[in-house]
Amino acid sequence: MKIGIVGGGFMGLTLAHEIAKNNAIVKVFESDQQMGGLSTHEDYGAFVWDRFYHVILPTDNFLIELIEDLGIGDKLCWRRSYTGYYVQKKFYSISSSKEFLLFPALNLWDKAMLAFTIFYGSKIKDWKKLEKITVKDWLIKMGGRRTYEKFWSPLLLAKLGENHEKVSAVFIWTYIKRLFKARSSAAQKEHMGYVTGGYKTVFDALQKSLGEKGSEVVLNSTVEAIQPNANGGVTITNNGVEEHFDKVIVTTPLDVIERIAAPSLFEATKAKAPVEYLGVICLVLVTETSLSPYYVLNIADKEIPFTGVIGMSSLVDLDQRAGKHLTYFPKYISGNDPFWKKSDEELKSIFIAGVSKLYPDFDTNTIVSAHIHKAYRVQPLQVLNYSETIPKIKTKHNNFYVLNTSQFVNDTLNNNSVVGHVKNFMDSFKKELE
Ligand SMILES: Cc1cc2nc3c(=O)[nH]c(=O)nc-3n(C[C@H](O)[C@H](O)[C@H](O)COP(=O)(O)OP(=O)(O)OC[C@H]3O[C@@H](n4cnc5c(N)ncnc54)[C@H](O)[C@@H]3O)c2cc1C
Repeated sequence: MKIGIVGGGFMGLTLAHEIAKNNAIVKVFESDQQMGGLSTHEDYGAFVWDRFYHVILPTDNFLIELIEDLGIGDKLCWRRSYTGYYVQKKFYSISSSKEFLLFPALNLWDKAMLAFTIFYGSKIKDWKKLEKITVKDWLIKMGGRRTYEKFWSPLLLAKLGENHEKVSAVFIWTYIKRLFKARSSAAQKEHMGYVTGGYKTVFDALQKSLGEKGSEVVLNSTVEAIQPNANGGVTITNNGVEEHFDKVIVTTPLDVIERIAAPSLFEATKAKAPVEYLGVICLVLVTETSLSPYYVLNIADKEIPFTGVIGMSSLVDLDQRAGKHLTYFPKYISGNDPFWKKSDEELKSIFIAGVSKLYPDFDTNTIVSAHIHKAYRVQPLQVLNYSETIPKIKTKHNNFYVLNTSQFVNDTLNNNSVVGHVKNFMDSFKKELE
């Protein structure tokens, strides 16, 4: 059987790997010149690392299993990591349960309410109820307004920008589940992981495994059209050339499907309401000196133009980054944000001014290189009743499927969820390959 996959990001390649294990021939079409989509790599000069920051948690079982399956389990490294908060012009570490409960921006009562919210949240099974209330209303109801303003609001701003007010409580429930499960399982201290060489190592292994099974990834290959064909299969048009497949699975964001799928296929997949995505603009600095001791620093300060600082150097060993330091400064924004209109040079100067404000001792002469990375469709916004609007995996056309991150209804956006989503799909799809 011949299967076509549109999109060579982590979803497309993981899916291709799982399908190829079931003796089907897979061809993955990727528009970019390199694999990986949002998880792709960047040449930073002295070293190569992820374009956007990625971390692996000890509880990312699906992802760890895939890494082992690819024969690169020995390249997984675990390190003690630290999380910080920047509130009222001060830095606080909240890297252990003790520090978390000692967080000075909250009084004793607020901390008790915070602990209760997390404990209660971690026990909730019926997440559908949480789809009916906004994250803000739910957190205020659970832990009070002050805890919300001082603790949760900065975190939501860091993750979702100003759009967090539209999002349902499912968002924070999934976050609590992921992070606090990881923390409790790591002796109450944070440990985080990465693969030597970054995600490039994972993609290279995926491509190698596909090649060994007679499958392939074709780069610089933007799919222009997808149409049903007369024999019941699906035809992909790429660079003006038509190719027939028994089945086609699209892993791109939804707007791409709307653009390239024939009206009858698009009708068969359409979400009940448009899914809104948040994008990200991220300054990446390679510097001679370290900027942040934290892996994640959440920022609650409207004067700072980014909403977090990701100190990759606090996690990844020095030899992986040629002795330099690597720090990411992301800002999550919606599609109509005026920031998209700014040039990379303007963005660099706004963000670097923000770095100097945050770290008054920062010497800009220590910058080796500065990069602006943008991604327009990153985080589907899990608005109220989100699960009722998303497109189905199995569409009304027998041989056309949609498998993408918009379908994460009770999970955060991360690569463990991507592998889990693929595995779930494969449970039923395997039978169709027989
Ligand atoms: C700032 C940031 C931080 C993150 N941090 C983490 C983290 O710490 N841990 C973690 O696990 N995850 C993290 N993630 C999430 C992770 O990157 C995503 O889960 C993952 O990359 C999603 O992969 P995907 O394949 O679903 O989507 P994408 O990566 O968007 O892949 C879609 C692919 O389709 C291609 N495409 C689009 N149109 C066409 C077309 N017409 N023809 C052919 N190809 C096409 C695109 O080029 C792209 O490669 C982070 C993401 C970002 C942006």
